[in-house]
Amino acid sequence: MRKKPTRVYKGPGPKEANILLTSASTVINWAQRSSLWPLTFGLACCAIEMISAAAARYDMARFGWEVFRASPRQADLMIVAGTVTNKMAPVVKKLYDQMAEPKWVLAMGSCATCGGIFQTYSVVPGVNYILPVDVYVPGCPPRPEALIHGIMTLQMKIDGQVNFSANPRKIKPGFTGPGRREIV
Ligand code: SF4
Repeated sequence: MRKKPTRVYKGPGPKEANILLTSASTVINWAQRSSLWPLTFGLACCAIEMISAAAARYDMARFGWEVFRASPRQADLMIVAGTVTNKMAPVVKKLYDQMAEPKWVLAMGSCATCGGIFQTYSVVPGVNYILPVDVYVPGCPPRPEALIHGIMTLQMKIDGQVNFSANPRKIKPGFTGPGRREIV
């Protein structure tokens, strides 16, 4: 009787080779950083640069951030582009409060960062007085490249997030990326 040939294991087959091992935190951070949806609003001239960052020449869509949402409930990134006046501050705060967690804030330009040239009673001297800012982008106005760099810095921060923690802002121990308040 002919002996049945012994099957020799030659490593994973095509089905088994499709297995990917990683942590849930890494996948969640990857998904969040790759689909940032900014809220559609601008407060002053910096908003024009923000608009050009979304237009064809700079094409923010390449990074997955192009879906500017008209509702704060669908947005997770607030780009504060322009001067925050005392009159507008409660409105900006309300929009931020209506955004669902996790959410991030980017202060774009000198006005949003520190009040800019408007050292006057009617202007908030930095949006950090009313909101927790994650990334500051200086300039008057910052060019679209600077805004793109700012959002990429935010992506690096998101990479360092610890998920399933009581503190949604917790950063992984040993993470070497940008910290909580980063100036780019
Ligand atoms: S930083 Fe300059 S460009 Fe931006 S809103 Fe203020 S004045 Fe306008």
